[in-house]
Amino acid sequence: LDGAVEGVAKLHPYIPGKPVDELARDLNLNVDNIVKLASNENPLGPSQKVLDAIQAQLSDVTRYPDGNGFELKSALSARYGVDSGQITLGNGSNDVLDLIARAFLKPGKNAVFSQFAFAVYPISTQAVGAEMNIVPAKNFAHDLPAMAAAINDQTQVVFLANPNNPTGTVFSRTEFEAFMAKVPDRVLVVLDEAYSEYVENPDYPDGLGYLPSYANLIVTRTFSKAFGLASLRVGFAVSHPQVADLLNRVRQPFNVDSFALAAAVAALADVEYLEKSKALNDQGMAQLEEAFKALALSYIPSAGNFISVDFGRDAAPINQALLEKGVIVRPVANYGMPTFLRISIGTKQENQTFIDALKEILA
Ligand code: PMP
Repeated sequence: LDGAVEGVAKLHPYIPGKPVDELARDLNLNVDNIVKLASNENPLGPSQKVLDAIQAQLSDVTRYPDGNGFELKSALSARYGVDSGQITLGNGSNDVLDLIARAFLKPGKNAVFSQFAFAVYPISTQAVGAEMNIVPAKNFAHDLPAMAAAINDQTQVVFLANPNNPTGTVFSRTEFEAFMAKVPDRVLVVLDEAYSEYVENPDYPDGLGYLPSYANLIVTRTFSKAFGLASLRVGFAVSHPQVADLLNRVRQPFNVDSFALAAAVAALADVEYLEKSKALNDQGMAQLEEAFKALALSYIPSAGNFISVDFGRDAAPINQALLEKGVIVRPVANYGMPTFLRISIGTKQENQTFIDALKEILA
């Protein structure tokens, strides 16, 4: 064990949301009686176009997938106005974040990220033996001036999530531009936009639009959230072609399977599904905010498909009581937010089941 990369033994494993069938077994209930609002998944169910695309792939399981993801890269290129050579496909965007760490971080170097940053940044950073350069948040949001000031000679990468998970906070164009102006060219800035499709704020910096201005910018996106493909594991990075070239060198040859590739192409074309996802999210967010206000609970206003609510005391017993009622949400104590629970936005009915359970628990 002493031979493990320094940092690996110290890292905290990623804690996923409890699976629905596991809780159903625990409670001796049918899975249909379980509500899971824990992993920021899309509550809409799959797009029919995606299911058809997957069906069409079934005859081809004996062949390796297209290791270069030609069709998906072409579709992404057309949709987002970037070159295929700027794209790196990943087994979820987690994979891409990990590729960035493997290509650019090593012992003696560090990655800057915010106090309440997404759990994969510390994992990928420590997995390659690099240091975490963690910057305190400001009102739960990234403190971009402080993050710029934290960059030192050993900094290779800065991870920013916009919106951030688990806080749902966003930073504006002006804040982002001021930050980028202070970052040395040799430092890569990873702008993780896993939830960008949900954002409606006109001041929101669309990372892809900034790529021509900043050669050191890497934008990551995912098909897991608004596009509804979490189980298929497909995400991507868009960057300067030379950065993409390096990321593609460390990538496993067939990291995205043929179902995921076909499904992502279909999902990208299904504009109606995306619009429905966003509308459902807006309605659900309003429903939960209203319920929290009625219960006099404070919450962090969120631009994503989840919201973190503060109980002002240890939230673990509330989480446990919700589980006993068949409702799975996400404790965020491991993010340093022990009084909060993070609730993913569900369907109207799922949200209501959660609200009713919470009301009973708090009564
Ligand atoms: N970034 C952020 C901020 C996330 O919240 C998530 C999902 N939890 C991801 C990246 C990774 O998602 P995926 O690997 O499914 O693309």
